[in-house]
Amino acid sequence: MERLSRLFWPVLVTPKNAVVKNVEAISRSQKLLTDLGLVRPAYNGTYQLLPLAQRVMKKCADLVRRQMRDVGAQQITLPVLTPSELWKKSGRLDGDITEFYLIKDRHGKQFLLSPTHEEAVTAMLASIAPISYKQLPIRLFQIGPKFRDELKPRFGLIRAKEFVMKDLYTFDRDAATALHTYNQINSAYEALFQQLQVPFVKVEAATGMMGGSVSHEYHYLAATGEDQLITCDSCGYAANIETINEASHDKHCQRCNSTNVRSVTGIEVGHTFVLNDKYSKPLKATFLQENGKPENLVMGCYGIGVSRLVAAAVEVLATESELRWPTLLAPFDVCIIGAKEGSKEEKLASSVETEFCNALSGISNEEDVLIDDRSNFTIGKRLLEAKRMGYPIIVVIGSKAANAVPKIELHYISGETMDVEPNEALALIAKYTNQKRELYNTKLNYSAPAKSNKASIS
Ligand SMILES: [Zn+2]
Repeated sequence: MERLSRLFWPVLVTPKNAVVKNVEAISRSQKLLTDLGLVRPAYNGTYQLLPLAQRVMKKCADLVRRQMRDVGAQQITLPVLTPSELWKKSGRLDGDITEFYLIKDRHGKQFLLSPTHEEAVTAMLASIAPISYKQLPIRLFQIGPKFRDELKPRFGLIRAKEFVMKDLYTFDRDAATALHTYNQINSAYEALFQQLQVPFVKVEAATGMMGGSVSHEYHYLAATGEDQLITCDSCGYAANIETINEASHDKHCQRCNSTNVRSVTGIEVGHTFVLNDKYSKPLKATFLQENGKPENLVMGCYGIGVSRLVAAAVEVLATESELRWPTLLAPFDVCIIGAKEGSKEEKLASSVETEFCNALSGISNEEDVLIDDRSNFTIGKRLLEAKRMGYPIIVVIGSKAANAVPKIELHYISGETMDVEPNEALALIAKYTNQKRELYNTKLNYSAPAKSNKASIS
């Protein structure tokens, strides 16, 4: 169990009589994550993630890693530096490169601080030839930092110059197997986004700078979203407006022709592509077929912006003044607040608290319990802070714990509050922990046909 007094948690305190300057518009997640001591701005468009944010990021990365394992993908780490000659070969260095960080080493060799790794992973496979058809499919992913010299970094972690991504690269023998892979990975994405319990929409997307033939995006709907999406209420079709030709903008559905369409804004949190041989051909990544002849690998790539996902979830779920988390991402499940130092109930309440915490360690994951041991602060002040942090369950062990029959207060993030005996509180926390475990263990159902086009607003 963590003790709050030891937590590195620099909450922003605004003096009561501070003059509020006219500051730039910032998003809700950016304001809350900064004010409440999870994230700090470093240099323009880059951020420091402090311990509480680090906990959330780790949980998010763990969930993503699990979904990747379930589809047979293996984790690797490629260098952040990619030789720019690889990007010359793929042709991407000839495009708009204003968003890339290009640097030179002492020998004058040029590198990119990688915004993505298609070239690097494809060159790696080309270098370990011959790959046999028997080894396919190959599915490799990494979770790590990516870089983009954004013209306008905005909204904190939502559009930053350095961010954490999960990037998966898949290699198959032909278009049919690559499409099978594509559908399978998309099912895994849908399962992941369902697990996070934030409403999302899957849309047809433009392939853009990645190239390739098929592409979908996953969006969280939010007013601060920078992507314009069209969704059809009649058939469920949804698309990024980039894919729609000028004439049919917000008039009728591309698929069913209904005029029952809506325009919404989304934050892109995931993106999937079938790339075919766009990279394997120029970088000569081949495999040997049954007849011994080499053939280009057929590739796909699949991204999830892990740091952006965390911020976007907060953007959708938080209130004006309080953080809210997907159940599986909350930095702590339970926050325990004990009696104030020097209060008349201090002695009795403290012994109830000690006993309660001992019993709780057998029920909850100890890692996910936070004890607010700043007993010099009133219970009221600590309760208010815990609510702002969005901890799912807050346990107050105060004056009622000194009763003949000790009672403690449970505050759920939903707003529900109750006075219960310690054993009852333990049972309720056990129930919460079990529900969370069930959600964590939600299994993918691959037998379901992949809904490749249909928007899934859940
Ligand atoms: Zn339609």
